[in-house]
Amino acid sequence: MLNGHTRTCGLIGNPVAHTRSPLIQNHMARVLGQNLAYLPFPVAHGDLGAAVGGALALDFLGLNVTVPYKSEVIAHLAQIDPLAERIGAVNTLVRCPGGFKGYNTDMPGLYRAMRQDGVEAAGRDVVILGAGGVARAVAVMLLDRGAAGVHILNRTGDKAAAVAEEVNRMAGHFFARAYGLADYRQIPGEGWLVIQATSAGMHPHVEDAPIEDPAFYQRVEIGYDLIFNPAVTRFMELTQRSGGRAYNGARMLVYQGIIAFELWTGISVSQEMAEELYRMMIQEQD
Ligand code: NAP
Repeated sequence: MLNGHTRTCGLIGNPVAHTRSPLIQNHMARVLGQNLAYLPFPVAHGDLGAAVGGALALDFLGLNVTVPYKSEVIAHLAQIDPLAERIGAVNTLVRCPGGFKGYNTDMPGLYRAMRQDGVEAAGRDVVILGAGGVARAVAVMLLDRGAAGVHILNRTGDKAAAVAEEVNRMAGHFFARAYGLADYRQIPGEGWLVIQATSAGMHPHVEDAPIEDPAFYQRVEIGYDLIFNPAVTRFMELTQRSGGRAYNGARMLVYQGIIAFELWTGISVSQEMAEELYRMMIQEQD
């Protein structure tokens, strides 16, 4: 119940209308007895600093940050967690002396989701589709978690090359290679773990997949799509049709929310709650 002691959290981004985060956060708050309310706040371009300052002045407990502000928000923080700094993207703000401290819970969330799904990246070459903000973060996460290397494929080849170069500089050795989307035949081996980090196939463009060629999917052992709406993307269908295992991004979404909630409240969320939220996310399709 909302009362004089209720603390406020929220999501800032543009747009925010399709977010699932209020569902996740308010459900956890209710079930775990935390007196907090979580709301979406669309922030107009140019107003990010005012929004962060306003949230601070209004004694918000914390914020999530989404597209297009995950990098831009860094300029408005009092502190930044080393992992978020390395990734170059912040999706969670937590109050600290003098302002907010920025964290990235997307990548620890993805790592926990992959572990829960029984997908291990350590020691193997991983194929990443996409070279946007999330794909770049995934490459850094895989470097930190002991993958052998990454093959980054993107529609715009130059962007893949830029991400690979940056990640290789971070690694201090040759870890990432860049390709155009059609160049997957150059990738050696088979039995690939593929992380689908493009927005191709996301609702309402559910007929799209970044690659259509069945010859690609014949070499995929695990197709891990970061999209959660629809629950089964065309990429996942094509993977399954060729005999591969396929996962969606709903668990990642749930775990990034859980980690943010844990940072704000200091309480630890159970695996049972994670599963309950996952079922909610799967049912909640547009
Ligand atoms: P972004 O920076 O806008 O990058 C989009 C990427 O998708 C680019 O590599 C772009 O290629 C590629 N792309 C877009 N349309 C394409 C098409 N029709 N065919 C082939 N490639 C296409 O986006 P982002 O922030 O990295 O997000 C990427 C995905 O991650 C989104 O789909 C989102 O659903 C997912 N995500 C999931 C979670 C979760 O919790 N599960 C959290 C965050 C994001 P170009 O460079 O050639 O334009």
